[in-house]
Amino acid sequence: MEKRFVYADNSATTKISKPVLDAMMPYLTEGYGNASSIYSIGMDSARAILKARETVAKAIGAKTSEIYFTSGGSEADNWAIKCAADLGAQRGKKHIITTVFEHHAVLHTCEYLEKHGFEVTYVPVDEMGLVHVEDIEKAIRDDTCLVTVMFANNEIGTIQPIAEIGAVCREKKVLFHTDAVQAVGNVEIDVAKMNIDLLSMSGHKIHAPKGIGAMYMRTGVNLPNLIHGGAQERSKRAGTENVAGIVGLAKAIELCTANIPEKQARLSKMRDRIIAELLKIPESRLNGDPKRRLAGNVNISFRGIEGESLLLSLDLEGICASSGSACTSGSLDPSHVLLAIGLPHSTAHGSLRISLSDDNTEEDADYIIEKVPAIVSKLRAMSPLWERILRDEDIDAE
Ligand SMILES: *Cc1c(COP(=O)(O)O)cnc(C)c1O
Repeated sequence: MEKRFVYADNSATTKISKPVLDAMMPYLTEGYGNASSIYSIGMDSARAILKARETVAKAIGAKTSEIYFTSGGSEADNWAIKCAADLGAQRGKKHIITTVFEHHAVLHTCEYLEKHGFEVTYVPVDEMGLVHVEDIEKAIRDDTCLVTVMFANNEIGTIQPIAEIGAVCREKKVLFHTDAVQAVGNVEIDVAKMNIDLLSMSGHKIHAPKGIGAMYMRTGVNLPNLIHGGAQERSKRAGTENVAGIVGLAKAIELCTANIPEKQARLSKMRDRIIAELLKIPESRLNGDPKRRLAGNVNISFRGIEGESLLLSLDLEGICASSGSACTSGSLDPSHVLLAIGLPHSTAHGSLRISLSDDNTEEDADYIIEKVPAIVSKLRAMSPLWERILRDEDIDAE
């Protein structure tokens, strides 16, 4: 097959789509008015923000007044967790529940709170990467102020029983936050039906730009501010609005939620074909649940190789993907997500994540299916680890 460029790292970030860029362009050029100003180009910006807020709200079953724009998913996570903790502390409740395999925007925020007098329970996930509702329910105490569980995992794609967890939290009167950065546009979300109090989303995972996101905060929750300053976002989040980013986020969410079932069907077919073909490689395994997973997520471990080398070889062939191997992040430990589902270190190190989006084609899938097995064989031929696996040595023993 002729060399091509295949971008298959859409869980890391996505390309801005043409309609999103077109929607943003006026606000990056002539429509530069400050939305707080009373002259017409300011009012134009304010109107664009209002319209965007309506669009975002509608996409997740929220009210317009429940959407607050932020600088991205990380800020929304920080806001939800730190400020729910603040609110809890005011009532003597200083216990938080989360899971072991959240995004670092959640985990590191919880660790920060632990250093500031809060107690955090990290609920485990099973070997498929699913959180059990009973485990959440059992962890809830009288002093629990927040439960935060991600909607869909960014590495292995497992989709969590969010509505069930929401129901438990509502019954026990505990605030429930979900990091839905990977789920928005890929899974149907209805914050009211799912009893979600707080939800984080991000633009750059759904073909909008980096640096824009939003938080949904249910009416009546009334968290304190994370960012103090001007009166933007109804005095809840200061900072002159990123009008173009906000308009781009709304356009992206409108497009990606327009026909979720059809997109899921197309992408999951491609995903399952890639999974079936790559699992023909000896000593490979699928990470995460085969069915309850994001339509575009493939995560497979190949024993005896390093994810880093695999990524570099794929790059030479024009394929962008990702790995749970952690050398790039400056740590020797492999991904906390892969360890949380019980993978031995050696297996976690040889993992490959392929994340597909609307932009990917069947030809992209063909190309991935052709290139990956050849690269894995080549790397194994040079790997001392692979020799030991062939000799049946227990490489995780030491
Ligand atoms: C990307 C991501 C984030 C962070 O969002 P940013 O907009 O990059 O700050 C948070 N949570 C999950 C699950 C993500 O995938």
